[in-house]
Amino acid sequence: MASTTDQVIRCKAAVAWEAGKPLVIEEVEVAPPQKMEVRIKILFTSLCHTDVYFWEAKGQNPVFPRILGHEAGGVVESVGEGVTDLQPGDHVLPVFTGECKECAHCKSEESNMCDLLRINTDRGVMIHDQKSRFSINGKPIFHFVETSTFSEYTVVHVGCLAKINPLAPLDKVCVLSCGISTGLGATLNVAKPKKGSSVAIFGLGAVGLAAAEGARISGASRIIGVDLNASRFELAKKFGVTEFVNPKDYKKPVQEVIAEMTNGGVDRSVECTGHIDAMISAFECVHDGWGVAVLVGVPHKDAVFKTSPLNLLNERTLKGTFFGNYKPRSDIPSVVEKYMNKELELEKFITHEVPFSEINKAFDLMLKGEGLRCIIRMGA
Ligand code: NAD
Ligand code: ZN
Repeated sequence: MASTTDQVIRCKAAVAWEAGKPLVIEEVEVAPPQKMEVRIKILFTSLCHTDVYFWEAKGQNPVFPRILGHEAGGVVESVGEGVTDLQPGDHVLPVFTGECKECAHCKSEESNMCDLLRINTDRGVMIHDQKSRFSINGKPIFHFVETSTFSEYTVVHVGCLAKINPLAPLDKVCVLSCGISTGLGATLNVAKPKKGSSVAIFGLGAVGLAAAEGARISGASRIIGVDLNASRFELAKKFGVTEFVNPKDYKKPVQEVIAEMTNGGVDRSVECTGHIDAMISAFECVHDGWGVAVLVGVPHKDAVFKTSPLNLLNERTLKGTFFGNYKPRSDIPSVVEKYMNKELELEKFITHEVPFSEINKAFDLMLKGEGLRCIIRMGA
């Protein structure tokens, strides 16, 4: 096959033309990668709730037409000027928040909030020249969180690509590109429960169940799952969740229910719903003196967190995390190795699979609350 380097590639992409309307598979033009950019061929992508929020654009700024998608696995097709650590054929996971390796955050052991490449959900263009690499008949189509993986080819800043073991099956490890690493890291890197401790997980979607998996790996003895969808409970047992609370079953606030169950509160909680009431409950249900709550869910843009300052004075800690505090380029290759070494199971997160032509089915499943991750197979 002739080389496509430096050429515009025509391929299929699922375009979100308008908020809440089904995606349309279109032929798009994908421009060659510019300075510090990489063009990749996406082989598998999956759907995360964050894609749905920005597609619905009810609680987020609308940016359309746009190519969504950020959880994926692919292979490098060509690299732009200045890219030295990736080459065609490398296997990569794109990540919505990057690592430039040069800023104060990248140099800090404690942060993954890169100054240059931290997530920016309103930007629909590349950082280098503020232009899109996608177009249809010359009309630009916007990018999404640096990744836009609902396309057979996409252009990504090199700092948003984790180079992984080429033997790792991309149809499985693609889920580490966002949701599973986020939940796992929220527990292992941020909440850090001690062996024998109690952990509450709010929201038992893929992110929350990955947080539960982190609690299990940490040796937590009680893992309390909280969800409004009772059908999640059976599934959650496979992830080490030991007890369930459905806030709908109680008249009193769920934080009070949990405090009663645990003699004053859980040692750690991880919120993975995106709903402000769950965020507040997740904070207020931790034990005074030592409890730590970690927020992971992406809130409505106008949401406000309200709690009495006394809850903090009484020595409860509130934290938040993007991408489980993992630095994408430095840390994600080793999370892939955890899967390769069988320390981490990914198969149990993958409940559905559809060909790219049926991508809207993945949206329907998520909207109905069915399953965890739906893998979308490109080129089919
Ligand atoms: P999901 O929709 O599969 O799961 C969310 C679960 O929360 C559902 O089971 C739902 O029933 C439950 N829920 C909703 N409101 C609730 C409430 N008030 N109390 C208890 N449970 C409630 O979503 P997901 O893909 O697992 O993602 C979870 C959240 O994490 C989303 O908000 C997503 O945007 C966010 N996220 C954040 C990051 C980050 O880096 N911070 C990364 C990925 C995803
Ligand atoms: Zn940086």
